[in-house]
Amino acid sequence: MNKQLILDTIYEKFDQWSSTVPAVCGKGCATCCTQEVTVSAPEAEKILQYILDHQKLDWLAERVKLYQPPKPPTSTTNEYAQACFNQQEIEQPENRDGGICPFLIDNCCSIYEIRPFSCRCFISETPCSKVQPAEVPEYYLSGSTAVQQLLEHMGQNDYWGNLFDVLLALATVYEYSEIGNCLSADGSADRAKQRVKWAKPLPGFLLTEEDMEKVGPLLQSIFESDIEGKTIEEIFNGR
Ligand code: SF4
Ligand code: SF4
Repeated sequence: MNKQLILDTIYEKFDQWSSTVPAVCGKGCATCCTQEVTVSAPEAEKILQYILDHQKLDWLAERVKLYQPPKPPTSTTNEYAQACFNQQEIEQPENRDGGICPFLIDNCCSIYEIRPFSCRCFISETPCSKVQPAEVPEYYLSGSTAVQQLLEHMGQNDYWGNLFDVLLALATVYEYSEIGNCLSADGSADRAKQRVKWAKPLPGFLLTEEDMEKVGPLLQSIFESDIEGKTIEEIFNGR
């Protein structure tokens, strides 16, 4: 499975679908970069590959030193969905304060082109601040959650969690050991591994019939996308 190609396709389809939302977001507006950012492994690998390709290893090591780990999420998006389907009591995931993101430099994202989905989908129709939450239509939130579920499904059985925890945990894997060797040997990678969770398969979407009217076309455009001769739906179904 070419996960990076699938990831780029999902990002592209989401951008097309969400382009009609009149977001006021712009360069230098970055209050949202203090929110917790959760990622699946393929999203974090995109960033690590960029670091390797551009030999920004020392730069990443400096960024990691600024990382203040927030409390880890209590459940992954798909765990939460599964619990809802099982009618279990479970804490609802919400946007939580994650401290200033170490990738934020001079109020701009230093990895903007390869930023993870949680950052891509965080927009607002009105200027937001610490006391004024972002405003988006309900169907947009449902569509964003559905895509989060798909990204977790794609990264199932691999790390899932806070962006810097997943980056640190993955940097201990052989493929990214060049990065891991550059990071401080202060035990932060081991602590990150204890904070991350394992991504789970998709148990079904948390969508109402009303949501489906707006979100259905997004999911259809993703599932029908061709990746090297197979649709994403065929790939996700193991065909
Ligand atoms: S979500 Fe809010 S803080 Fe973030 S860029 Fe948009 S308007 Fe600015
Ligand atoms: S990765 Fe970029 S967009 Fe996302 S929170 Fe950090 S600085 Fe903001």
